[in-house]
Parts: sequence; structure tokens; C-alpha cells
Amino acid sequence: MPELVQLVSGPQVEPKTVRIGIIICARYRNCGGGKCFRALRQRQGGFSRYAAEDQLQIVGYSSCGGCPGGNVEYVPAEFLKNGADAVHLATGLVVGYPPCPHIRQFKTFIEKQYGLPVVVGTHPIPLKYLQTHDQLPFWEQVNMKDIAGHLLAESREVMESYN
Ligand code: SF4
Repeated sequence: MPELVQLVSGPQVEPKTVRIGIIICARYRNCGGGKCFRALRQRQGGFSRYAAEDQLQIVGYSSCGGCPGGNVEYVPAEFLKNGADAVHLATGLVVGYPPCPHIRQFKTFIEKQYGLPVVVGTHPIPLKYLQTHDQLPFWEQVNMKDIAGHLLAESREVMESYN
């Protein structure tokens, strides 16, 4: 499995440039990306793993192409041509009703086929989505904590600011 260790924040010698490709759920294909780009700037949600001094560059941004996500087969190749170091699956895949049923498969496929580490999540989970999901069985059924635990552990205050 590709190594994410080199990309996470922590003690380091000098700032790095990390090139990121983002894949969003096609149900939100018209989204302007405001929450994702804010989170990237503020190092929150899926981007909290990067150090504040690192330079994050978006080298690709695409939807999955619609269920069952045919674009996921191809679009990472384009990210790679632009020098991508990692792929982030947008938080919409996690919070949608129902969540995307293919998150694990997308992650496994991209990591195997393209050798790119895949992070589940971009912006923090908006609190209103968390509150609704707390009343639904979906996350538990797919053990979402296992693949998006870092998003679920974010402070309620931060989540509320993304409502
Ligand atoms: S639910 Fe999954 S496969 Fe369907 S549109 Fe969203 S990301 Fe794509």
C-alpha cells in the first residue's frame, strides 16, 4: 500500500509541496468547492494531516462520473501526469444519504493501480450531517469510523462552522 507517512504532519526538516487530486461525488457535481478549498487553506478535515508550512497544490479536481463511479478508473491517471502525491475522496462521499457504497473499493483500486495514497475526506463533516447520521445506521453498517475516523474525531465546533 502506498505510504502516507511522508505526507502527514509532524516534526520535519523543511516544508514540502504536496500535490493533491480531489474526486467528488457526482451527486454534488455542481458544488463550487468552497468547503473543500477552505479546509485545505485552514488545514482542517482531511487536510489536517499536512503541516501548516507545507504547500498544498490542487493538481486535479473531478467528479466520480456518477454511480458506480466510472471516472475513478481513469481520472487518477490525469492527476499523476500533473505530479499528484495523493488523492482525496471528498467528504460528500461520506456524508451523503446514503454514503457512497464504493469508498473502500475506490481507495483500494486507486492505491493499487496508481500507487497513490488515498485519503477519505476533504472538508470537515458539517455538524448537521453528523447529527442526522447519528440517527441512521449507515455509518455503522460500513464501519465508517475505520476509514474516516479522522473526520469523525474533529471537534464539534469546527464541524458546526461547516454547516
Ligand atoms: S455515491 Fe459514489 S459512485 Fe455514486 S455518484 Fe457518489 S461517489 Fe459516485
